[in-house]
Amino acid sequence: MATGVALKSLRLNNLLSASCVKALASQCRSFTSQLTEQQKEYQALSKEFADKYLKPNAAKHDLEGRFPFDVIKKLTATGLMGACVDEEYGGKGLDYLTLAVAVEELSRGCASTGMIVSIHNFLYANLVNEKGTPEQKDLFLRDYTKGSLGCFALSEPGAGTDVASIRTRAKKDGDHWILNGEKSWVTTAVEGSANIIFATFDPELKHKGIACFLVPMDVDGVFRGRKEAIMSVSACSRAVTSCALTLEDVRVPQSYLVGEPGEGFKIAMEQLDQGRIGIAAHAVGIAQAALDTAINYAKERQAFGKPLSRLPSVKDRLTDMCILVETARLATYRAATEVSTKNSAMAKYIAGRNAAAVADHCVQILGGKGLSTRYSAERHYRDARGTQIYGGVTDIQKRLVGHFLLKEHDAL
Ligand SMILES: Cc1cc2nc3c(=O)[nH]c(=O)nc-3n(C[C@H](O)[C@H](O)[C@H](O)COP(=O)(O)OP(=O)(O)OC[C@H]3O[C@@H](n4cnc5c(N)ncnc54)[C@H](O)[C@@H]3O)c2cc1C
Repeated sequence: MATGVALKSLRLNNLLSASCVKALASQCRSFTSQLTEQQKEYQALSKEFADKYLKPNAAKHDLEGRFPFDVIKKLTATGLMGACVDEEYGGKGLDYLTLAVAVEELSRGCASTGMIVSIHNFLYANLVNEKGTPEQKDLFLRDYTKGSLGCFALSEPGAGTDVASIRTRAKKDGDHWILNGEKSWVTTAVEGSANIIFATFDPELKHKGIACFLVPMDVDGVFRGRKEAIMSVSACSRAVTSCALTLEDVRVPQSYLVGEPGEGFKIAMEQLDQGRIGIAAHAVGIAQAALDTAINYAKERQAFGKPLSRLPSVKDRLTDMCILVETARLATYRAATEVSTKNSAMAKYIAGRNAAAVADHCVQILGGKGLSTRYSAERHYRDARGTQIYGGVTDIQKRLVGHFLLKEHDAL
């Protein structure tokens, strides 16, 4: 308690950034089996929510590619759509670990819902909360803890991993900026009400020429593209919508600029450190769902006169799955507690790869039924695969970990 008060006063005195305070707040407590009472409370709430509202409908939402509006409305009532946002803007003021634990449980019930909650909070609401001006928070945060959805638009048709090569242009025009260009894969842009848009005011400057803007979706010149048809093994759950955005002479006031021109790249990278915690938690939830599915099936299915679970090779697979899930969970909780580029990249790398391996074991344990759309194994397999792509591909996460490892050892 005393530590909480001390942290609050440090923050009030602007001695620590908001994200730093949240990370320290988590650190002051222990984690994993020793989550704080509040973290346990949100874990239990999310678990109950997932079992009651998500798991029973996940297959239907996935097959029909239907956005879960009803569920998001219910989640808003729990406060989870503004989990880490300051209370004065309608949020709960929770730490990142609490949000990660909630995203994990929700993703266990329905990967699509977990991803929506993860992106809305870690990539949109937390950015506005931590980096926005009071005016920006009034316009772009208050309603976003009450049901409106926010998005994060960095990727473009010609620039994914290579963020510094974005081509969306921002041109200063008096006390306004004019945006032109194209964004791709913007999650929930179909349903979202505002977007964080990254654009370059000078492509020659590469990453130093990028600026970050808050853009309402209903201003003139913002056009949503077709919803991406996401399917099969290179995809994520189909109830999440991602679409392209075209910006044609979109005029936004100077007051919608986040930070300074030229700070956009830094803002994007810092936010992706958080976003990767969210995707790692999402991957852990998917992996846990695959493990649960496999165990339940292996207990019931008889082969050679006994349940599958008693066959040594199946037992080995289940054991491997358990180890993979636990390892990913530990890495994710650690990243949510001690936020750094290295920890987030490592958590996303481990969680994405482990989820894919766990889901693969799950399909194998279910045999032919593992491939059937009447069972959840194939959905977990598809869902797990996506976690190695969005939020930054696995390959780049490994490079980031290597970079910071060598930097720590003065060996770059
Ligand atoms: C379902 C979904 C939702 C998404 N949501 C969003 C969103 O809300 N907002 C947003 O901005 N973006 C979003 N994205 C985009 C996503 O972040 C990008 O797809 C991702 O960063 C990879 O970029 P890319 O697809 O252009 O692949 P590329 O960058 O072209 O990479 C392709 C492959 O090349 C290799 N590669 C490339 N660069 C390197 C490197 N430096 N080191 C090693 N290997 C490398 C890797 O094997 C990589 O898999 C989403 C994507 C999907 C599929």
